[in-house]
Amino acid sequence: MKEISAKVREAGVVGAGGAGFPTHVKLSARAEIVIVNAAECEPLLKTDQQLAARYPDLLVKGLTLAMEATGAQKGIIALKGKYKDAIGALELHIKNYKDLEISIMPDIYPAGDEVITIWLTTGRRVPPGGIPLDIGVVVNNVQTLINVARAVEGTPVTTRTLTVTGAVKKPITVTVPIGTPLRDILELAGGGSGELAYINGGPMMGTLITDLSTPVTKTTGGLIALPKDHMLIQRKGQRVETILRIAKTVCEQCNFCTELCPRHIIGHELSPHRLIRAVNYKNISAPSLVTTALTCSECGVCEAYACPVGISPLRVNIALKAELRAKGIKYQGELGKVDPMARHRLIPSSRLMDRLRLRPWYKEAPLSAEMYVPDEVTLKLQQHIGAPAISVVQVGDVVHVGQLIGKIPDGALGANVHASIEGRVINVTPQTITIRKGGAAK
Ligand code: SF4
Ligand code: SF4
Repeated sequence: MKEISAKVREAGVVGAGGAGFPTHVKLSARAEIVIVNAAECEPLLKTDQQLAARYPDLLVKGLTLAMEATGAQKGIIALKGKYKDAIGALELHIKNYKDLEISIMPDIYPAGDEVITIWLTTGRRVPPGGIPLDIGVVVNNVQTLINVARAVEGTPVTTRTLTVTGAVKKPITVTVPIGTPLRDILELAGGGSGELAYINGGPMMGTLITDLSTPVTKTTGGLIALPKDHMLIQRKGQRVETILRIAKTVCEQCNFCTELCPRHIIGHELSPHRLIRAVNYKNISAPSLVTTALTCSECGVCEAYACPVGISPLRVNIALKAELRAKGIKYQGELGKVDPMARHRLIPSSRLMDRLRLRPWYKEAPLSAEMYVPDEVTLKLQQHIGAPAISVVQVGDVVHVGQLIGKIPDGALGANVHASIEGRVINVTPQTITIRKGGAAK
């Protein structure tokens, strides 16, 4: 068991679903159930569903390795019924395993929020401010477990698969070396036309990209191009001061944001309408209420779907979280009752798509078998939660694919970084290592 997590640590595997938590730490814990989170509930993204269909052997292998490492007796692959290719491929591969099952989740958002994934597939509820391990569960996403299977075979993480879609000529799902500039990936999708802006990740939880030379990391969720005047771009670009002003002037305390908040409906104290009230009337708010912001998953339901007057409790929560964390304040509270209407309050994906005005860009983005190799990659030394890796190479070194170039600092939480293309190191900073293909000096 220790051998599995040691190999995963060596290979630099981190949670590919977005957070980037070092996977070897998760696999060093004891758990009862390992869940594969294959929900991929962000509209437009089509990476995990295609990887599960293309590499069911690796995914099942990664799942069984994670179960072995944690001592789990049960493995659940959680995905949506509409991912028929993935389900068909996985059914064939799990038929000889008595301890593995496929759990079909409704086509709702946010089925992929791990707290909701666990509740939908097992009925267990993570307490507010807690983690899945508190209730005996470990959750990993598809790409993470494929990387676990490869790690145990001795292959480190050097690539990332992601969907490039939206207002591009040829939506596509590509596998690229980590460190590839987003600009190159946009070209693989035929480029975009018109006045565009870009989102890193999904439409709901992704962030605006300000610079297309930004390199792909182990956690880059996707690249979505949308017209600059699209409501999502406008909303994501709003300054927090503007958001707070709107909240103060137009919140009618209708409570819709709380009624639809996925964390609230499963019994968490988090009530976005009360947080908005607390921020608007600081002098009469209870300090403990404000700490509930720390339990917000940032799913965006309150902002993008619930609020009828365009307020963003999500962004208010993000601002509150930053303040509370800077002061070292933690949330302490109990798990309450599940809303009897909870399952009916989750958002159907098709309705979300319409509400976000994304229908024109809902297209296939087929998984390409080709591997693009850019002329240059820039690998961040921190692509994960924890301390940045420390460079073990120097300018002028020639490196090969998979060679260790950034090492976890002694005794720290972190993840190793490996060269993703063959070439010569042309720049090293405390934050990044740049490699140029073919070994030519700059
Ligand atoms: S949904 Fe909007 S208007 Fe209603 S309580 Fe929440 S923030 Fe206020
Ligand atoms: S973003 Fe809004 S809806 Fe989602 S968990 Fe946070 S408060 Fe609830």
